[in-house]
Formats: sequence, structure tokens, C-alpha cells
Amino acid sequence: MESTRALATEAVHAGRDDLARQGLHAPPIDLSTTYPSYDSRGEAARIDAFATTGAEPDGPPVYGRLGNPTVARFETALARLEGTESAVAFASGMAALSAVLLVRASLGLRHVVAVRPLYGCSDHLLTAGLLGSEVTWTDPAGIADALRPDTGLVMVESPANPTLAEVDLRAVAHACGSVPLLSDNTFATPVLQRPAALGARLVLHSATKYLGGHGDVMAGVVACDEEFAGRLRQVRFATGGVLHPLAGYLLLRGLSTLPVRVRAASANAAELVRRLSADPRVTRVHYPRIGGAMIAFETAGDPHEVIAAVRLITPAVSLGSVDTLIQHPASISHRIVDADDRRGAGVGDRLLRMSVGLEDVDDLWADLDQALGECPTSGTGSRAGGHGALAPADAAPAATALPRW
Ligand SMILES: *Cc1c(COP(=O)(O)O)cnc(C)c1O
Repeated sequence: MESTRALATEAVHAGRDDLARQGLHAPPIDLSTTYPSYDSRGEAARIDAFATTGAEPDGPPVYGRLGNPTVARFETALARLEGTESAVAFASGMAALSAVLLVRASLGLRHVVAVRPLYGCSDHLLTAGLLGSEVTWTDPAGIADALRPDTGLVMVESPANPTLAEVDLRAVAHACGSVPLLSDNTFATPVLQRPAALGARLVLHSATKYLGGHGDVMAGVVACDEEFAGRLRQVRFATGGVLHPLAGYLLLRGLSTLPVRVRAASANAAELVRRLSADPRVTRVHYPRIGGAMIAFETAGDPHEVIAAVRLITPAVSLGSVDTLIQHPASISHRIVDADDRRGAGVGDRLLRMSVGLEDVDDLWADLDQALGECPTSGTGSRAGGHGALAPADAAPAATALPRW
């Protein structure tokens, strides 16, 4: 549903529209697992309606797995931020992706076309066929040719985890024809990019990352049209990957500061990109054209030494928290991907991925500088060019970064 209010306004008001009338300011947390009713005929009708359309039952849910009012507030808010009719929340990003695959597989559409790189576990889920899917990997230009009669989904990430490669979502959506395009928007957030407006039918988030924003809640969500949302709710009901109401509360609270956090962290990231790009100990810096708070860079020396040496920056997987995290994708986030596939997707052994937080940028740089301290310099000054990369010697940040495709 396209909102007439600005994103910053929606971020603090969406999902809370009824509160003032109820005499409340903070949203209530409803921890009920079941809901009493003296009208069992009425309950039968509500369950029948849910089985038909998957629409949220009017009134209180029957049972916690069918829906929860606190989680519904977060879903309403995220749908407004992404500009979709609906959103359906899950226990994690992977539970959300699993539900999408199950919705399509239940229609006999088990084939998925996907573009690498994806988040390591998404890649693994598709490659291993854990949910009975079969994947064809392609580049964006090959999507149309890869479609088959049983293709149920096209999946992309932009900017992608961990290389920050970008795809032209509008062009990709066009190539998909009638097959739903799923765009993982975890890295960009609706602050920087709204894939639904570019033609993606499904917008996936690991809400564990920027939406929650404080590293203390695990969740996933799919923003989409109400028809697909109904199917997702039915799968969620049947398979049980529900979000806890307390997590729903924390996510709603996280959304209220999302625009401010993303913009402030992105400004820090752009400045670190500028400094890293000029540093001879760094051979390549990756930063997407749309900006954001995620950066990746390749070291001339041993990247494991950098991880071992950071002090202010936290050496940990995950991203999108208020504090800065750094990790080595080939060892952690993308370890589960076959080494050749991983390298083929541009995830090199010297690549480090950093989620830039809200600390003072000079403090962050001081820590990075000392952590890189022992690294040799690249010496030759010859830089690997290429997709999404900045050549440090002559780089101006963001603006000159090349798109991957
Ligand atoms: C972390 C992540 C996921 C998986 O989300 P979880 O909440 O960890 O299950 C999916 N996509 C991207 C881009 C991620 O970074």
C-alpha cells in the first residue's frame, strides 16, 4: 500500500495508529498463546476463512501460531515502509525464505533461478535442495533463458552479501515475466531501496540485522501482496516458524530509528571507504552505488590477522547492529558454500566484510588502522579492478564504484 507519509514518519507511526485512542503510548505486548471464545461456531467460521485465504482472522487469533497482535504491528509497519500490501514475520530470515520455497513447492513449482552471491545459508538451502527445490545459478542476463515451466521463484540479493554486488532490479523483474522475483533487501533496507516499487513481488529481510538493529533479536519477514501473504501465513501456521511477540515488539521499536541509524551508519561507512581506498595495505574496496553501512575490502596481508587485532570493532558474524562488526566471509558467513562456487561468486579468501555502526568514525578508523598495521602493503600499486570495486589509488568513494552488472 503506497503511503502518502514520508518514510521517517511511517517509521515512528506505522503499526501504532490505534494506540492514542486506546490511551496508550508504547505498544502492548500480547504474550497469549491461546484466546478464549464462548462461540465455537464462530471460531469454526474463522478457521475456515483462514484455511481459504490465509487472511488474518478478524478479532483475536484463535491460537498463537495463527497470528499475534504484537507481531502484526511490526508486520503492518514493515509493509508500509516497503510499500507493499502486507508482510508476514517469521522466527528468522531462513524461516522466512523456507516458507516462500514451501509456498511455491506446494504448487509443484520447485525450480528456482538464482544469482550468486547470496547469503551463505540461502545459497546452501537452494544448492542442497533441503526443501526439495532445484536451483539453476545464472547471472542476471541469463535469467530469462533459465526459466522453465516449473520455475517457481527467481531470487537475487542487491547489494549482495558479502561482496555488495548490485543487480538492476527493474531489469531483472522484467526478465522474470510472471515468475515471482524475490529480492533480499536485508543490506539496503527500505531506507535506501524499495524493491517492490522496482517490480519484485517478494521482499525478504533477515530482520535480525538492520530492522532489529541492536543485535538482540532474531527474525525474518517477507513483504508482499496480500494474496502471497495469505499463503505464507498458511505455511507459517502449518510449519510453525512463528516470531515470538517480544521479538515483534523489539522489531517495531527498532523500525522507529531505522532511517536515522541507516543514514548515520552509512555516512560513517562512506568515510571509511574513502580512507581504506587510499590505504596501500588494502588492495580493493567494495561499496555499492546506493551506499549503505556495509563495506567489504581485500587486504594485501593476511585477513585473519586483521580479525585477530581489532579491539573496538567486534569480530563477529551478523550485521546491522549499532556497533561495528567485522568478519571473514570465507571462514564464517559463506563457509557452507563450496569453495569453488564461493570464489566464483567473487568471495575471495582475502575479503573482509564490515558492518559499520554508529561509533565515532575517527575511533573506528584508529582501530582499523592499528589492526591493519602489521599487514604488508600491496607494493606494486596494481589493483584488481572489476565489479563493484574501487581501485584504492585513484578512488573517489561511492560515486565512482562500478555496478557489478
Ligand atoms: C543473515 C541473512 C539472512 C538469514 O537471516 P537469519 O535471520 O540469520 O536467518 C538472509 N539474507 C541475508 C542477506 C542475510 O544477511
